[in-house]
Amino acid sequence: MRRTFSIIKPDATKRNITGSINKIIEDNNLVIIAQKRIKLSQEKAEGFYAIHKEKPFFRDLIEYMTSGPVVVQVLEGDNAVEKYRNIMGATNPENAENGTIRKLHALNIQENSVHGSDSNENAKIEINYFFNDDEIFNN
Ligand code: ATP
Ligand code: MG
Repeated sequence: MRRTFSIIKPDATKRNITGSINKIIEDNNLVIIAQKRIKLSQEKAEGFYAIHKEKPFFRDLIEYMTSGPVVVQVLEGDNAVEKYRNIMGATNPENAENGTIRKLHALNIQENSVHGSDSNENAKIEINYFFNDDEIFNN
């Protein structure tokens, strides 16, 4: 599996820094093979984060993720899932390594600028949740 799924979250689209984030992605040899800017519906966001349904931050998370546009992406490259998790940095930007997207751009543990799949299995599920086959260019 050489693909992962990414979301550039509303805090980043609102600040007009999607290009800065894409540059970091590309500088790390991940290729953006599909990308679209969308508004997440309540239902779509709840389905995506269903695993966090019982967490205390769930309601806030859904409200935040539907508060503005997001950019959903398919990234391709060697060890894409693990590589992108490393480039993103820790969930809480206070704990993120220097040079990571979250260290550079995230505002706080919730408004942390990006999502990346946490396993190959979830990458496949998440890509299929947002993209049809004909939206992904196969080289
Ligand atoms: P993501 O799934 O978005 O890639 P992650 O895997 O680093 O991030 P998760 O634990 O899966 O983090 O949480 C999903 C998202 O929920 C986080 O990215 C963040 O936006 C939000 N979140 C997580 N923990 C908290 C918290 N304690 N308080 C508020 N929001 C949180
Ligand atoms: Mg996660």
